[in-house]
Amino acid sequence: MKRFLGILVFVVMVLSVFAGPNHLVIFHMNDTHGHVWGTEDGGGFARAATLINQAREEVAKEGGAVLFLHAGDVNTGIPESDQLDAVPDFLALHYMGLDAMSLGNHEFDKPFEVLEKQYEVAQFPFLGANFVNEKRGGPVFEPYIIKDYGDFSVGIIGLVTEQTKVLEPIYLGENTIVDAEETLNMYLPIVQEKADVVIVLAHLGYHADGGRPNLSVEFTTSDELAENVSGVDIIIDGHSHTLLETPVVINNVIVAQAGDNAENIGRIDLWIDDGRIVDWRGEVIPLTSDIPEDPFIKMFTDAFYQLGSEALNEVVGVTKVYLDGERAHVRSDETNLSNLIADGMIWKTGADVALMNGGGIRASIEAGEITYRDILTVLPFGNTLYVLELTGKDIMDVLNYAATIPDGQGAKLHVAGLTAEIKGGKATNVKINGKPIDLNKTYKVVTNNYVAAGGDGYTMLAGKPGYDTYFRDADSLREYIAHLGTIEDYTSQERLIELDQVK
Ligand SMILES: [Zn+2]
Repeated sequence: MKRFLGILVFVVMVLSVFAGPNHLVIFHMNDTHGHVWGTEDGGGFARAATLINQAREEVAKEGGAVLFLHAGDVNTGIPESDQLDAVPDFLALHYMGLDAMSLGNHEFDKPFEVLEKQYEVAQFPFLGANFVNEKRGGPVFEPYIIKDYGDFSVGIIGLVTEQTKVLEPIYLGENTIVDAEETLNMYLPIVQEKADVVIVLAHLGYHADGGRPNLSVEFTTSDELAENVSGVDIIIDGHSHTLLETPVVINNVIVAQAGDNAENIGRIDLWIDDGRIVDWRGEVIPLTSDIPEDPFIKMFTDAFYQLGSEALNEVVGVTKVYLDGERAHVRSDETNLSNLIADGMIWKTGADVALMNGGGIRASIEAGEITYRDILTVLPFGNTLYVLELTGKDIMDVLNYAATIPDGQGAKLHVAGLTAEIKGGKATNVKINGKPIDLNKTYKVVTNNYVAAGGDGYTMLAGKPGYDTYFRDADSLREYIAHLGTIEDYTSQERLIELDQVK
């Protein structure tokens, strides 16, 4: 009897160990934007891989599991990655064992075939419940996945920002993005039925602290989603590049986002008992230089870097004429290159007017083949295109400031979509797309993020409604040149006609 009791006690003890809460470690990254490679100062996927693999070993001992998620915007930001269509990034995430990503708006920077190729390389789900085909109806990729860990299961629903319709309209084709909150409410009952823990992997953006972009499209942010929807345990977010050092709890929903550019990785530890989260903690871990780089990830991504760097020599177009970006010229006159750059900004964003500062143009392009390296030499700052909503009156303020800038200044204004006469330090006879400017009308105006923030004296623009497209100016120019193919000639016709000066 004593012996039997002893065995019984032992069995109960063993059972209680196994019946204890299950440990799930969630790692999350977002908005890595081509930053697969770290530097001496830290960052990069190889360092993230080290932390994830360490955690996998640790939790395996206690019977726990690791879930690794990416909240979108793998694409666009580092020339070597952009050149290779972010294949190094997707392949690295594949070998790091990524469980799923949500689609980011920058996944639509290139033709849809590129995204399909990336999907083949990645071999992990691209979640986007609200990314739907208008003709067929229904989601283009998977709306959600269920991860079954035996004792518990996790449902992950992907959502992409509705802003994509305005930010990346070119390659959406017959696909579109529908309301994130409505879509989530549609899928939630299905996923709740199948899973104990519900995670929304959202590329929506966090704006509980303000800074909500002003856009001509209705969109949902992650904090609004947490506020309005019930039945979600965790929102892992991206898009606003927000570094939440510890997750924020809104309406009992854990909301997390881990900055950008693979500088950090988010970690959330969950303890799940009987299908419920009984305890949790969360943090964002900086990928500091003292974290060793995973040798395998580093080895093959380094090889890709070499390849990408060679690819910068790839020819993107041809010009029959010299494209003038000489410092002295672009700081006093409009040139064929400054007109080309401004026209390309309109082509890329569909804005009414483009504003470009002469100081942002750093080199000329010789007649002959144009490489991406040439374009990066012209626009080396990695500025992004920024779209502002300006009234005609706001635009007049900009032009009247531009009219006072002496020759030789970086603030020299270059434009597209607009013509004006400059006389006596004032702009007159202003026309937008050939029609006289309407002072009360709101126009869509594209400039770079530097000028939009008030750089080069354009302080009247700081704080105006608008949004960052996160398109690099050089990439936009590269695409425009590729679109033109061969440049036979390009106009150097003045658009801001200086009547005071005899040219
Ligand atoms: Zn984004």
